[in-house]
Amino acid sequence: MSQDLELLVALQETDRQLAECQTKTRLFAAERERIEAEFQRHIAAFTTAQTNLDAVRRRLRDLEIELSQFQAQFAKYTADLQRVRNQREYETAIREIDTAKKSAAQCESKIVEAQAELVALEAEVASYAPDIERRRAETDAALAENGRAEAAYLAEVEIIRHQRREMEAKLSKAWLTNYNRVSKLRGGQALSQVINGTCSACRMRLRPQVHSLVRQGIGIHTCDNCGRILFYRPETEAPASVERASVEKAAAATAEP
Ligand SMILES: [Zn+2]
Repeated sequence: MSQDLELLVALQETDRQLAECQTKTRLFAAERERIEAEFQRHIAAFTTAQTNLDAVRRRLRDLEIELSQFQAQFAKYTADLQRVRNQREYETAIREIDTAKKSAAQCESKIVEAQAELVALEAEVASYAPDIERRRAETDAALAENGRAEAAYLAEVEIIRHQRREMEAKLSKAWLTNYNRVSKLRGGQALSQVINGTCSACRMRLRPQVHSLVRQGIGIHTCDNCGRILFYRPETEAPASVERASVEKAAAATAEP
């Protein structure tokens, strides 16, 4: 077999490995998503309680601001009361004092309610904490392990890519171009092994002259039917009786378009 053909066979094997790598790389990402989703599922109740707790804290803060505003109004109108000059101003001040007092009282009772909610929610969130911490630690450890495995795997892939670049550099440009073209057309399989005189990829029987040249390793030939680059390995050849059966089968089979 010519050196170019040996290289093409090796290139095909490398590309097969790289195609597998693509699938495996996607699996690492999918596994990470699964690990994180599992954690999120476990902490759903905690997340809800935490969200409610945050909302109560915000409400409490707003209520306290509101209360201080009513208290300021109360203080202002109480001071105004000292300076009233007539009955009308007196009544206005009294009315405003009353309104501010009532509003402040309403606000205070809302604050008391919110504080009770806050205490309950804080207790609920705290009750989840040890379990969450443990699960988070487990999740982080699983993610880190996945990351390490992926990094190690990607380093292996890089070695394969490097080998491919070396092969490309050694190959003649014409055959490399041909290989890439057929590979693209034929779903990544640019080469086909000749077994018992037949292209093993499309099952087309080779012309006797082409078969003879491929067997002897003279030149590089492509399948008339599928265009794949043909190669031959003597050790895979079946015994004569099997070959006859195979020939009949190949003749009966419909050739790939
Ligand atoms: Zn073929």
